[in-house]
Amino acid sequence: MLLKSKIDDLKKVLTNEQVLFREEERYCYAEDSANIRRETKLPDVVVFVETTEDVQRVLRYANQHKIPVISRGAGTNTVGSCVCSEGGIVLNFSKMNKILEFNPDDMTMRVQPGVILADIKNLAESAGLFYPPDPSNFKVSTIGGSIAQSSGGAKSFKYGTTKDYVLSLKVVMADGTLMKLGSGTIKDAVGYHLNQLVVGSEGTLAIVVEAELKLIPKPEANALITAYFDSIETAVEGVNGIIRERIFPATIDFMDRNAISTVEKFYPNGLNTEKECMLLIEVDGFASSLGIQLNRVEKALRENGASDVVSVFNKDEMEAVWTARRASYGATAKLAPDVVTDDVIVPRSSLSKMVCGCRDICKKHNLQVCIVGHVGDGNVHPQIALDLENDEEYKHLMEAKSEIYSLAISLGGTISAEHGVGIEKISYADKVLGADVIEQMRRIKSVFDPNGILNPGKIFKL
Ligand SMILES: Cc1cc2nc3c(=O)[nH]c(=O)nc-3n(C[C@H](O)[C@H](O)[C@H](O)COP(=O)(O)OP(=O)(O)OC[C@H]3O[C@@H](n4cnc5c(N)ncnc54)[C@H](O)[C@@H]3O)c2cc1C
Repeated sequence: MLLKSKIDDLKKVLTNEQVLFREEERYCYAEDSANIRRETKLPDVVVFVETTEDVQRVLRYANQHKIPVISRGAGTNTVGSCVCSEGGIVLNFSKMNKILEFNPDDMTMRVQPGVILADIKNLAESAGLFYPPDPSNFKVSTIGGSIAQSSGGAKSFKYGTTKDYVLSLKVVMADGTLMKLGSGTIKDAVGYHLNQLVVGSEGTLAIVVEAELKLIPKPEANALITAYFDSIETAVEGVNGIIRERIFPATIDFMDRNAISTVEKFYPNGLNTEKECMLLIEVDGFASSLGIQLNRVEKALRENGASDVVSVFNKDEMEAVWTARRASYGATAKLAPDVVTDDVIVPRSSLSKMVCGCRDICKKHNLQVCIVGHVGDGNVHPQIALDLENDEEYKHLMEAKSEIYSLAISLGGTISAEHGVGIEKISYADKVLGADVIEQMRRIKSVFDPNGILNPGKIFKL
């Protein structure tokens, strides 16, 4: 716990109203969306920064007194990336939520870190432009958190992830220095791309106070095909068939049998519960191209044994299908007191082994699992329902997670595609990256943050 004198100092650095220090207030910022047992502390104090200068002032003070600083957007990350491993100051960005500049001709937008992704998407779309990264919870998550996690989502297959849309960043370094990283132009070949190093660094290298984002023209139209398969293998073959047809879908998502029947149990949507899995394939482009694309997708799917192949053009009907897919996490949560989601990725050729392996592992450990994922990318999200208070179940969960990660690595993949490492996967990250790479990362960290105050205890041990 910070001494009262330090909290008083922070009130002088900012204002009284910007500083929360009562226990009941600090509790509200002690958790994020990671559902796991962990040893963390309450933040000592939560500060609501309103300007870049506020951030600089807090950082200068924290660095001088070696106090941990943990940035916080909407707190929706699923790996314990904004919880306090050692207490410290939580920087809350909800008041730095302005869109500073929108330049449709240059196709760029300059934003503060607390802006909600949906606001960026909506403004871009009002001018016929598109910001593609779309974590399923884009209506609540912030751009600062998305940059720090390099969030992906369903459209990553065609459009990439957050890292592909960051042109430049203004960051406050651990000692309070303000820097602009990147020129903001579409291409930039001058020196190291330090802005890209900050993307995905989970708030451990620098604090983002402004971001210049790249936008692209919004595809004129889109449509969705849903199809069912008797096995994961044939579904993957169907996807390979689509690519052989030279179609580049925006999204190739999937739900396994358990995910389908769990959604139908709690949020009935007319999905077919008899089949082994379902693919949701969205195509986009000129309106006149949709018919051709859908025909070729349908041909590839049918040639690989798909049934119930349905094309959906109507916006509301498409939204209903996506709502069913997005409901799988909430539906799985209704099977037991708790739900834990995970995130692994393998080359697409190993996807069926990964999905079947996850099921076998969970069956062995007597855990209920619903599997969804972004098949185009080879990204699998096992969603496990259990009682975290039950010691036996918890032990099995931890063993199952470890086996799932080992399987992903043995198949040429890795332990996170888009959710990050946080505190949750720290011991596994060591194994994936190896001692030499971790040591190199430690050196980079010490250049950016010599006193180790930025989000300590995340990604790797110092
Ligand atoms: C239901 C659900 C569905 C999801 N679906 C997806 C999905 O499809 N794809 C996907 O990729 N993710 C998904 N996620 C994960 C999550 O949405 C993302 O990681 C999210 O973008 C984080 O944004 P946030 O504002 O909540 O950040 P937070 O959780 O608040 O913070 C995340 C990280 O960013 C750091 N941070 C925050 N602001 C700053 C800043 N200004 N400067 C430096 N560091 C900062 C924090 O310290 C922390 O390390 C999902 C989560 C949930 C709960």
